[in-house]
Amino acid sequence: MLPKLNHSDYQATQDLLKNKCILITGAGSGIGRQAALTFARHGAQVILLSKTREKLASLDDQIRELEKPGVIIAKPILCQVDFLKADESFYETLAEQLEQECGHIDGLLHNASMLGDLCEIANYPAGIWNQVLQVNVNSAFLLSKALIPLMKKAPAASMVFTSSSVGRKGRAYWGAYAVSKFAIEGLMQCLAEELENTSKIRVNSLNPGGTQTAMRKAAFPGEDPRKLPTPADIMNSYLFLMGDDSKAVHGQALNVRL
Ligand code: NDP
Repeated sequence: MLPKLNHSDYQATQDLLKNKCILITGAGSGIGRQAALTFARHGAQVILLSKTREKLASLDDQIRELEKPGVIIAKPILCQVDFLKADESFYETLAEQLEQECGHIDGLLHNASMLGDLCEIANYPAGIWNQVLQVNVNSAFLLSKALIPLMKKAPAASMVFTSSSVGRKGRAYWGAYAVSKFAIEGLMQCLAEELENTSKIRVNSLNPGGTQTAMRKAAFPGEDPRKLPTPADIMNSYLFLMGDDSKAVHGQALNVRL
């Protein structure tokens, strides 16, 4: 068995992600938004995918405000996309644009996700089931497929899939969301084996654990959010996985909290 990695205490240097281009899905809110701000603060040029145009615009402003004397913040690249509507040609066009603008991609954080319904499988609405798998799994497959050639051009690249405890052990009433997170783990494992000896791309999954976000509130409406870590509290693990200190970490299903 692999030793547990204590990345939650990781201390990133200020310029850990300097000269790296990192794409984040679901960058408009919650953990993805905090990851975008954190990666930009540590020197990355961030490529932000979000469903909501207004959230992208306000995040762009927030990132530009990080600039101060002596600290240069790379201009973010913004992309509005609804994964329920995007077909394969969207991802191919995005890859072409990013090749022109960045040349290569150093990091890919698959973070966007929808919760869907929480109910027993026997009553699960088929339409919602398909939507959850489209957003949580199919979009991650299509984006990975389109960006792998650009990630292969990086000196060392990191792909991170966002998992969940219900993606490691099934639980009643978590339906399509749980199944989608199991699928993400499978995608991570297949890619990790395929890319191990053929590229310098490392692939891992990370379960953030209960975190104060809108999705958590929707899943646990009775919970006191103040008892949970904020997205900012869990960024050490994300920084570790995106920076070169995790170069040897590959094919692992990790947790923010050990
Ligand atoms: P949020 O609901 O805050 O963020 C989810 C993100 O996914 C949003 O930015 C949202 O975009 C985006 N998204 C949803 N549907 C679509 C779509 N159709 N097209 C494009 N983007 C879409 O949740 P969290 O920050 O909590 O979740 C981040 C990740 O962490 C998810 O993968 C989640 O499963 C995982 N996770 C979270 C836990 C927690 O306790 N918070 C625990 C375990 C796992 P928009 O803002 O524009 O709607």
